[in-house]
Amino acid sequence: MRYTEYLLPTLKETPGDAEVISHQLMLRSGMIRKVAAGIYDYLPMGLRAVRKMENIIREEMNRAGAIEVLMPMVVPAELWEETGRWQQYGKELLRLKDRKETDFCLGPTHEEVITEMVRGTVRSYRQLPLNLYQIQTKFRDEIRPRFGLMRGREFIMKDAYSFDLDQAGVDTAYDKMYQAYRRIFARCGLNFRAVEADTGNIGGSSSHEFMVLAESGEDAIASCNRCEYAANIEKAECRPQPRVCCDAAPPLEQVATPGRKAISEVAEFLGVPPSATAKALVLITDSGAPVMALLRGDHELNPIKLKNALGCAELEMATDEQIEKLAGAPVGYLGPVGMKIRIVADVAIQSGGPWITGANVADAHYRHTVLGRDFTVTHFADIRNVEAGDPCPRCTDGLMEMWRGIEVGHVFKLGTKYSASMRATVLDDQGQERILVMGCYGIGVGRTVAAAIEQNHDDKGIIWPMPLAPFQVLITLVNPKDDAVRSAGEQLYAELQAQGVEVLFDDRDERPGSKFADADLLGMPLRVTVGSRALQEGSFELQERRSGERTMLPLAEAAHAIVERVRAALAAEG
Ligand code: ATP
Ligand code: MG
Repeated sequence: MRYTEYLLPTLKETPGDAEVISHQLMLRSGMIRKVAAGIYDYLPMGLRAVRKMENIIREEMNRAGAIEVLMPMVVPAELWEETGRWQQYGKELLRLKDRKETDFCLGPTHEEVITEMVRGTVRSYRQLPLNLYQIQTKFRDEIRPRFGLMRGREFIMKDAYSFDLDQAGVDTAYDKMYQAYRRIFARCGLNFRAVEADTGNIGGSSSHEFMVLAESGEDAIASCNRCEYAANIEKAECRPQPRVCCDAAPPLEQVATPGRKAISEVAEFLGVPPSATAKALVLITDSGAPVMALLRGDHELNPIKLKNALGCAELEMATDEQIEKLAGAPVGYLGPVGMKIRIVADVAIQSGGPWITGANVADAHYRHTVLGRDFTVTHFADIRNVEAGDPCPRCTDGLMEMWRGIEVGHVFKLGTKYSASMRATVLDDQGQERILVMGCYGIGVGRTVAAAIEQNHDDKGIIWPMPLAPFQVLITLVNPKDDAVRSAGEQLYAELQAQGVEVLFDDRDERPGSKFADADLLGMPLRVTVGSRALQEGSFELQERRSGERTMLPLAEAAHAIVERVRAALAAEG
């Protein structure tokens, strides 16, 4: 592609509203353009990277035996009513009406549509197993679209759905997808991890997220420094500790803590570490019932674990007024002693003590609060966030480490949640009707491209991994008005293209400095500079974007050498 005939609007300045580096670089390198919040144009350069990503996904999905289909983006509400999600999904679902006032939505995910397709086309166990996927535009009316393609409202997703007769079938399908995902992200040259993920209110036995490690990631991941255990913080388990309390603890004693509400203030005032205190939080479940969550003062509540422990879909913090009414004391002085509502305590409360706790009286706390003696709890559960340095829940001597990650893919065993409510069944070999067992598997296409840039850039611009690079080679003519330069460049351009290399040919009549700056910004893996001085010595200069390493290539050997380099880079990362 000739630069002078292309649409490649690079920007010198970093746009103000772009917070993360991948968003900044995608805007500056003319890949995308904002149309509305979370809605983007893909300009030619951006589209090329997206298509590369899609092709890697497609090849690996096909290799794993999945079959490509394409479902509509506009989905009739009646399908979503069958599963109850029309009511449940909330505001991320963009609902619309057609001219006859019939309800539709823009598909944010396609379990309903695919289940309808399969129930209408598959009758017998002989047609199984089946794994169908599509690469398609999704719409989710995200509350906070940001970071460019990383969290858009309209975005491209690969979503796959597997159908099997039984649990063993879905286990195999899941495993194949897990392996295919490993290959896909490895081929993109990404530093990633598969981590255990919460299965939320869908339940089900297994779910893994594929996380690209990056400081800007919205997810926190915990992993063991000794064994394979890694999980999203939403899910990461804490290892219960043996009980070390509380023989011969002095009796409960109320102490004045005037104006000390925060754990840090109470601990400092009483001269103890925050870990010697127990903090009480009040939450309201979806049925409107209040629950007290009790945690060690230095620990952080994990709302997802608490939801799972309570078996409720929604959980909200109680308001200050609700708390005062329940406890008879202002926020900051809450405790479990004498509390009449349901108390769920973290397992760390079970193993430690005696505790400093709120006295349910303004400006007062209790010292020497002992579990069993001074208060009881309804039940114990693991409801706190894992922290760096915690013992691994799986192996004996590992310690947990914390990372930030970008969730680029998600694999999930769905069970029969959709197939049961939509009656997607087949006849088994006994002629019995059986409900299909499903799995679902998503990859964010644009998000993965953005994540690749998060991991591959320097202060000058993008450093494309070869498999995702919009162009594999950039040829820069230092002075296109010099006939020798132009004709040598044209010839190399033609030869490389003939060999199937993807080349961007910078034939612009501009200052070399600005062309080199663009070359760094655009980040093609190999850059050939055609200048008169090197030409007089019979060579081109080849520079590798990542290492900056320069080599002089004799004219006659240049095309061959470059083709070899491209192939080697693809093979290494593929
Ligand atoms: P998140 O927790 O980041 O909102 P999710 O759990 O809602 O993600 P899934 O429903 O599992 O995401 O969707 C599958 C994949 O689609 C995700 O792993 C992610 O790569 C991508 N994805 C999800 N939401 C967005 C979005 N708003 N913009 C871009 N990609 C997205
Ligand atoms: Mg989401």
